[in-house]
Parts: sequence; C-alpha cells; structure tokens
Amino acid sequence: MSELALGLKRLHLPTVSRLYVEYEEKATKEGWGYVEYLERLVLEEVAHRIQTRIHRAQRAAGFPFIKTIEEFDFAFQRSIERRMLGAYLGPELVSEGRCAIFCGPPGTGKTALSVAISMKAIQNGYDALFTTATEMITAMTEAEKKGRASELLPKYLSPDVLVIDEMGYLSYGPNAANVVFQVVDRRYLAGNKPIIFTTNKEPSEWSSVLHDADLSEAILDRILHKGEVLTLSGESYRRRRG
Ligand code: ADP
Ligand code: MG
Repeated sequence: MSELALGLKRLHLPTVSRLYVEYEEKATKEGWGYVEYLERLVLEEVAHRIQTRIHRAQRAAGFPFIKTIEEFDFAFQRSIERRMLGAYLGPELVSEGRCAIFCGPPGTGKTALSVAISMKAIQNGYDALFTTATEMITAMTEAEKKGRASELLPKYLSPDVLVIDEMGYLSYGPNAANVVFQVVDRRYLAGNKPIIFTTNKEPSEWSSVLHDADLSEAILDRILHKGEVLTLSGESYRRRRG
C-alpha cells in the first residue's frame, strides 16, 4: 500500500481512497487544477458520509416500510394537502418542536405520512424512532415490572423524532396511560421533542382508550401545545391497490 493509501485509511477517507486514481485521470483529461481535484474528492467524501448516515438512521428508526413524501400520492389522499405538512417536513419540526396526530380510518396513509415525515427529519440531520403504541406500552410495562424502566425510557426519549403508531387499535392495560404520559411529558419537558401519533380514534376518545380521563387530557394538552390533529378520510389505499 502506498503512503497516500495508508494515510487515507488512517484518516478514514474511504471515498477519497477509492476515487483518487480515477479522478487523477479525469483531472488530466478535463484540465482540473490541484484545488479543483482536491475539492471534488472532498465533496465526494462528504456526500458519501451523508448517505451512510442517512442509511444508518433509516435502519435504526425501524420503519415498517419506506415511504418518502415525494412518493405520497396527494391526488389520491385529498383530505390533506402537502402544504399543510410544511411545518413537519423542514428542520423546524425539531427546532420548534412540532407534534402531530394523524387521525383517520385504515389505509388512509397515516403510517405512510409518519414515515415520510421521519424520513425528511433524517435527511435534515436528525434521528427518528418508529414504534407502535402497543409495542412501547408492553415493553415499558415489562421493564417496570423488572425495575428497569429507567434503562428503557431513553429509547423513547432520545430520538429527535418519535413515531407512536396505531394508538387505540387495541385496548390497553391499566398501565398504558402512565407509560404514554411519561414519554409525552418527558419529551415535552426536554424542549418539546416531536412526537407523531397515528390513530383511528378521535383524540376525544383517547380517555376511554387509555382508561384515564385526566392523564389523557394531560397527554393531549402537551401534544397539542405546539401540535395539531390532522384528520385523514377517504378510501383505503390498500384496497385501491387490490
Ligand atoms: P394507515 O396507517 O392509515 O392504515 P398506511 O399509511 O399504512 O395506512 O397505508 C397503507 C399502504 O398504502 C402503505 O403501504 C402506504 O405506503 C400506502 N399508501 C397509503 N396512502 C397512500 C398515498 N396517498 N400515496 C401513496 N401510498 C399510499
Ligand atoms: Mg397504519
């Protein structure tokens, strides 16, 4: 290995390492100066790092499927317009701490939009976690039984964006309201870190879903402080596709 190749390896510049010979030929052919040659290599390294980070963050988020906002068909889902999602698709989602509740019947794109918003956040340099209400409530309840809640809680507190999918699809045990409140309150206190909920139940029904009117009011109060309910309606996209 040449001194250069070794040095690039030590500096963790795999893209420069992979391209520098090829780019040397291009530089000769196209008349790039020294600075332009260096600049092109550095930009490739930066671009590659960003891609790697995005892929890693996407995998870590645990999405059930990948959907981008560009792939979302607003002509099919007419109860929402893309401009209504503006505040959720830019860095202000995190910097200003927006929350959202996507509410509507099955197949109307609630999960897809929560994934698409998280994907944008990842592209904007943040990280995200996708979970379902059932998954989170079950995991936290189990952890509490073992006296390990404080070990698991950071999983739901640390991501910049948290998706809690399918709130209210199943009936939850008596601890559910507590778990959801803890996560919502702690994220709220940590500077209003965004949470995206999806649900088939109107927020007014959350008290019966969670079997606790006071806690569900406290939960909604925090979410809706800088958040909103976005109601989706219409036919199921799943059935349309047959
Ligand atoms: P919900 O969570 O409301 O039940 P999903 O978001 O899971 O529905 O949508 C079901 C499937 O249809 C997913 O694969 C999703 O990506 C796709 N889908 C739903 N609505 C749209 C849409 N308007 N444009 C493109 N794909 C959609
Ligand atoms: Mg869904």
